[in-house]
Amino acid sequence: MTAGMFHEVTVARRRFLSPGMVRLTFTGKALDHVRATGIADEYLRLFFPDDVTGETVLPIISADGRWQTPEGKPPVRCSTYTVRRFDSRRREMDIDFVVHAGGLASEWAQTAEPGHSIVINNPRGLYQPSPDLRWQLLMADATGLPALARLLEQKRDNVFCRVVIEVASDEDKQSLPESANTQITWIYGGNGVTRSRIGEVFALIPLPPGAGHIWVSAEQTAVRAIRKRVKDVLALPAESCKLVAYWIDGDSDRPQAAALNADVVQSLSAAWLEEEVDA
Ligand SMILES: Cc1cc2nc3c(=O)[nH]c(=O)nc-3n(C[C@H](O)[C@H](O)[C@H](O)COP(=O)(O)OP(=O)(O)OC[C@H]3O[C@@H](n4cnc5c(N)ncnc54)[C@H](O)[C@@H]3O)c2cc1C
Repeated sequence: MTAGMFHEVTVARRRFLSPGMVRLTFTGKALDHVRATGIADEYLRLFFPDDVTGETVLPIISADGRWQTPEGKPPVRCSTYTVRRFDSRRREMDIDFVVHAGGLASEWAQTAEPGHSIVINNPRGLYQPSPDLRWQLLMADATGLPALARLLEQKRDNVFCRVVIEVASDEDKQSLPESANTQITWIYGGNGVTRSRIGEVFALIPLPPGAGHIWVSAEQTAVRAIRKRVKDVLALPAESCKLVAYWIDGDSDRPQAAALNADVVQSLSAAWLEEEVDA
């Protein structure tokens, strides 16, 4: 199992970071074989046993990297999560799960007990901005919060950073890692409760000149709105953005969230200070 791509790990601890987020700490010798990337938004998959047979049918990886289900077996059920913390020396890995109804992984995480095991694969990272980065705009809903927290932890002090996080309610705010030259704005709604406002908020934020990067991880509709603006209005090069849909909300009739407070709009739409972006 641990030889290459897949690793069976064990739950060591479970704790709620907020009513809407539960952290599992995994342990086990198998973590010695995990090939972490060190990239802040690295993610992996959790593979679940089949409901009927109890067997975890792992995919076969073909020579060209495609995943195939072994013949005669049901396709494995898996969900994607960010590695919030990996400490190979202590053999510990944290993964933070958004609490939501009807989710295979989310519901498993809410009730997982120490000693329960699960199969994971090797992580893969996405966010690799240019080394001469001067500014970055980071936007996420609750699913992107673990990656965003790691991005702040790993950020260089001389990179100026604006952060917008949409969580369901005030209770879902979390304390984030200390990060120099960083302005953080929390907004409320989205996350399967109301329609996300991340797309609307993105349009309010002016982008400074110079080497910068936009990183967005949120629900698919919000990410699509941003992708469209980036391409059609801002005409930014693809390599200056990492816009990733982390989940799909099947309900397109969510109510609108309450209007943004005027102070929040003002701070979001304020220009970046010249000294922030001067090279
Ligand atoms: C690269 C990457 C990294 C990710 N990192 C994280 C992470 O660290 N933590 C995390 O919690 N999620 C993360 N996600 C999102 C996560 O993969 C999805 O939310 C996934 O659907 C959860 O799996 P599940 O088995 O719980 O639910 P599923 O069985 O996939 O979905 C069941 C139902 O739940 C709904 N649903 C799914 N997610 C949510 C949600 N967040 N809020 C409300 N309803 C939802 C779906 O619309 C569906 O109706 C990440 C996704 C990607 C692509």
